[in-house]
Amino acid sequence: MTAPIMPGRFAESMELEALPRIAPEEEFPFVCAGCGDCCRARRDILLSGLDLYRLARRLGLPPRTVAEAFCRETPGTLPGLRLMPSRRSGNCPFLDGGGCAVHDARPLACALYPLGQAIDLETLRTEYYIQQPLCGVRVPGRTLQNYLEDSGVLERAGTDAFWARSCAALLRRLEGVQHYPRAAVRNCLLRALYYDYDFRDDFQPQFNANLARLEPLLSRLLGETQRP
Ligand code: SF4
Ligand code: SF4
Repeated sequence: MTAPIMPGRFAESMELEALPRIAPEEEFPFVCAGCGDCCRARRDILLSGLDLYRLARRLGLPPRTVAEAFCRETPGTLPGLRLMPSRRSGNCPFLDGGGCAVHDARPLACALYPLGQAIDLETLRTEYYIQQPLCGVRVPGRTLQNYLEDSGVLERAGTDAFWARSCAALLRRLEGVQHYPRAAVRNCLLRALYYDYDFRDDFQPQFNANLARLEPLLSRLLGETQRP
């Protein structure tokens, strides 16, 4: 089963299957020209827990505080967070002049752009798509592998794949139950996926621990375990 990765650019993620794929060894001469266009008037940058954690670490603030200041909850069965555009400019809140104020901690969707990413949820194999039209400038001789290494996408790929599979599994469980206390479940999920992280410690062990803590609670809230 292959699904467009979450996070991604909301409006585009559903069209990823139709876009041309590119393999790591193929030429990908794109280099960002730094125009900032992909940061303007965007309402669709969906964050993963790792994205929020990296922003929290960059800003030196708890993830929940960063979310309250810069994010909005997405509608839908599985809770998500997306960057909330500035009320004044309509642009990403981290766009500073023409540049990104959190460049070294920018979300995956930004690091990938103008690529899209899809993950096979069984094998965790990742495919990359080119979102058209291609912006930036061309520097011949560069491959997709070069781009992924330079943008920091490869070093986080394992965690992103695990996140995608974990979220897909949670979504399947929620969709299998008709009646449950939605607000309570949403609150538990937001804490496990996004909020209960200390940015001074590594993300992945905390994610594993949060999922383990979530399990009995979610089971009870979804009515999967019988009360004595
Ligand atoms: S986080 Fe940075 S790169 Fe991403 S949209 Fe905002 S300003 Fe642009
Ligand atoms: S990724 Fe493209 S749109 Fe975004 S700043 Fe670079 S050149 Fe501009």
